[in-house]
Amino acid sequence: MITETPLVIESLTDINQTQAQDSWNQILSGATRDVKTLLNQLDIPITELNERQQACLDFPMLVPQPFINKMEKGNASDPLLLQVLPQASELESAEGYINDPLAEKHSNLQKGLIHKYYSRVLVLLSTGCAVNCRYCFRRHFPYQENRIGKNDWQEILNYVAKDSSIEELILSGGDPLMLNDQQLEKFIKQAEEIPHLQRLRIHTRLPVVIPQRITNKLVNVLHSSRFDCIMVLHINHSKEIDDQLFNALSKLRAAGITLLNQAVLLRDINDTVDDQIDLSKSLFKAGVLPYYLHLLDKVSGAQHFDIEQDDALILHAQLLRSLSGYLVPKLVREEPGKGSKTPIS
Ligand SMILES: *Cc1c(COP(=O)(O)O)cnc(C)c1O
Ligand code: SF4
Repeated sequence: MITETPLVIESLTDINQTQAQDSWNQILSGATRDVKTLLNQLDIPITELNERQQACLDFPMLVPQPFINKMEKGNASDPLLLQVLPQASELESAEGYINDPLAEKHSNLQKGLIHKYYSRVLVLLSTGCAVNCRYCFRRHFPYQENRIGKNDWQEILNYVAKDSSIEELILSGGDPLMLNDQQLEKFIKQAEEIPHLQRLRIHTRLPVVIPQRITNKLVNVLHSSRFDCIMVLHINHSKEIDDQLFNALSKLRAAGITLLNQAVLLRDINDTVDDQIDLSKSLFKAGVLPYYLHLLDKVSGAQHFDIEQDDALILHAQLLRSLSGYLVPKLVREEPGKGSKTPIS
């Protein structure tokens, strides 16, 4: 968005800004990493502890407190809990489920950059997330090898500057909002110097698990950018949208940022028509349009979340009949080597 006047959401002093920054960082460093602590806090009996802990060795558990606060006490099948709680079934191997289902290792032409689709590139600015989702297709991604430093920024931007077909930068990861506001501002300012870039898209789940991440500084940085800014959230269930997240999203909307959502279709979490209808309606109320509903990427350890494609199609057909067109996300699968997400029909 091209604008000269920075939007001031609230008149805050610099001290308050720093406190806001500290607050999300502190919540992040206080995130729960221990299965027993999580289950105790929710008054849920501890079962299969050994298996759960073993699954953590493969992919650690990580859940920030604001996300735990949205879970229902005593409910072992809470749809938010099931997304983050390590399961014994993660240890089983299953045919067709592999470590790098999207073959991303091979499409990394350049460190921190995935250029698979025309006119847009994925930039992996950060290697970490604020939550570890058990179904994550990057649960085995070699983030360490792809860890990028500020020196790599320049090379990424050089690559983008040389290819005038690229109109949009997609900050993904990891979660790009793991960077602090100063780092993001610096990156965006540098990217703005590339004339053919028009849009900046941020794919993030961080505000969903720590709404405090939507600082006034972040809102102002995006609002005052010359780019059209899009934030693609990752919300799988309507219960993830509480008042805190709702308010954070309102600030982004007020600043003219387009809000979209992508969800993953997950067994026992959001696989009923009612779950999906509730999700779409709650998203819209919060100013977010449903964008994609992804079929699970077949990553090893996540097979217990999978929904058969035929069942997904039936569900999607029911959504088309029940909802206004703009409330129905596109059902897609990501396939290696394709020029876009693959629509399922
Ligand atoms: C999903 C994805 C994009 C974005 O695709 P859109 O259809 O524009 O949302 C871009 N690059 C890669 C590598 C992706 O996986
Ligand atoms: S936030 Fe996204 S990238 Fe991070 S663990 Fe969850 S699904 Fe994976």
